[in-house]
Amino acid sequence: MQCSHHHISDDRCIFAFGPSNSAVEKAEPGALIAFTTLDCFSNQITTEDQCVTGIDFSRINPATGPVAVDGAVRGDALQVKVLEIVPETRGTIVTIPDAGILGAETKKSTTRICQVKEGSVHFGEITLPARPMIGVIGVACDEETSCGNPGRHGGNLDTTLIGAGATLYLPVFHDGGLLALGDVHAVMGDGEACVAACEVPAEVTVRVGLCKGRAPAWPVLETDDAFSILVSDEDLAHAFEEGFAYAVRALAKANELSWEDAYMLASLVADAGVSQLVNPRKTIRVRIPKSVMTITALLEAMHHDA
Ligand code: CA
Ligand code: CA
Repeated sequence: MQCSHHHISDDRCIFAFGPSNSAVEKAEPGALIAFTTLDCFSNQITTEDQCVTGIDFSRINPATGPVAVDGAVRGDALQVKVLEIVPETRGTIVTIPDAGILGAETKKSTTRICQVKEGSVHFGEITLPARPMIGVIGVACDEETSCGNPGRHGGNLDTTLIGAGATLYLPVFHDGGLLALGDVHAVMGDGEACVAACEVPAEVTVRVGLCKGRAPAWPVLETDDAFSILVSDEDLAHAFEEGFAYAVRALAKANELSWEDAYMLASLVADAGVSQLVNPRKTIRVRIPKSVMTITALLEAMHHDA
């Protein structure tokens, strides 16, 4: 069967996920969708003379879309496979007073423009390998949530693992799901210490699919050799507690173990990781290797009857 190919331009964007989102395009499961994305500043910064404090903050964190997926209804999981991320050549990173891990020590706003070229990011004299990833990716949720915050619906997850080849499973709350994405980073370290990464406009191509009746309580990410549960909360310790609770439940289901055995297995193989520490809600991940987990068991254990 020939699958359709859609393109969403960067003038179709939202600044919050919520019940008032309406689709700019419809796609069927299996369709390819290319999103042209603005950077997180809506491309307002183009030179190092410009400070982030001088731009229009109502246009921060745009997400291109939303796209309705035919047949997606509340309780389904929307599957989004990231096929390709092509960043533009101009990347921007800033410091903002009182923002980031060292907010109290950050006295001034500074802007650096980084060239992104042939798989490398040029930060001044320092050359880094590019590792393009999507910062904001989510669906319409019940409570209006700024694209600057993450949650059960996805949103500002700022997770380095959301790159080409990864598949994200998001819970559907509203008809069509209403997928939107943006805030691409050419490279970012786990944590996103200074509150910004190498922010780039980009072209992102995904393939959408549906798992009927399999909405997970939190976004689930599939990479080559593992699944990661992505939990966001103001309180990091609580986020890890929530992530491990689902991991243990899923390990018990996938391996037919008692809760106690699954808890011990989690202690042996599940890795706690940090996605970002700088958004209003922080995002953590619990990574479970595929050797002891299947997507079916994981989505079943994480099923959320919202
Ligand atoms: Ca972000
Ligand atoms: Ca960003």
